[in-house]
Amino acid sequence: AGSGALALDTYELTKRFGDFTAMDRVTMRVEPGTVHALLGENGAGKSTLVKCVAGFQRAEEGSILIDGREQDIANPIVARALGIGMVYQHFTLAPGMTVAENLLLAGGKTPALIDWKRKRAELEAFLATTPFSLDLDVRPSELAAGEKQKLELLKQLYLKPRLLILDEPTSVLTPQEADEVLGHVREFARSGLCTVLIITHKFREVMAYADSVTVLRRGKAVHHCRVADTSPAQLAQAMMGGEQVAS
Ligand code: ADP
Ligand code: MG
Repeated sequence: AGSGALALDTYELTKRFGDFTAMDRVTMRVEPGTVHALLGENGAGKSTLVKCVAGFQRAEEGSILIDGREQDIANPIVARALGIGMVYQHFTLAPGMTVAENLLLAGGKTPALIDWKRKRAELEAFLATTPFSLDLDVRPSELAAGEKQKLELLKQLYLKPRLLILDEPTSVLTPQEADEVLGHVREFARSGLCTVLIITHKFREVMAYADSVTVLRRGKAVHHCRVADTSPAQLAQAMMGGEQVAS
């Protein structure tokens, strides 16, 4: 799969549920080593788009290109082999297992069958390479929301992703926790560790942490721009369209 930040392109990607088109010919370019935001109201198709990239859903039409090469991302295992890691909108932690066991499980290891001493040293060495610190021996039920989100991120970082997809990672965080997590995530992209595709509906986060943005509205990509060239008002306009809200 190579290493380092990858380039992602989607070309006219379309996903239907029955006769409802959740994603309608979405073409999007995500430059390597950048933070690209996907902005849109609830139901705009943001999660559907990233689930297709991460192999959790399959688009009926269109294509996905990694570093310029078309890939058939049939399932999450294929996505992982390509270096695509995704943190979901909802927590996916094993509550009865410790932080260490959750990390090993994410890496495809069965905690009971491993050389524990060696793995533990390896996990500690891994943690030291990240900006996050977590007690390896606690269980998710003992963690606050911000810490759980860090564990979800660590699970993906453990797999050394070349593209890190985050679906509304700050929805359960305090503004301070959100700034901390997003600051680190931006640094991952800056340092060339990985490319970041982040879903949010918060303008502030887009303006402060993203390099570029795609706005989705009712399944369509209606706006692409560099964050340096836009404003919250312009993004809001793109998100909501010209429709007038009845008052
Ligand atoms: P967003 O993440 O932007 O809030 P989603 O991508 O989750 O939006 O959903 C886009 C639209 O597709 C919504 O109207 C949603 O109800 C619909 N949708 C998403 N997943 C399914 C599904 N599995 N079956 C039917 N409709 C779905
Ligand atoms: Mg969503």
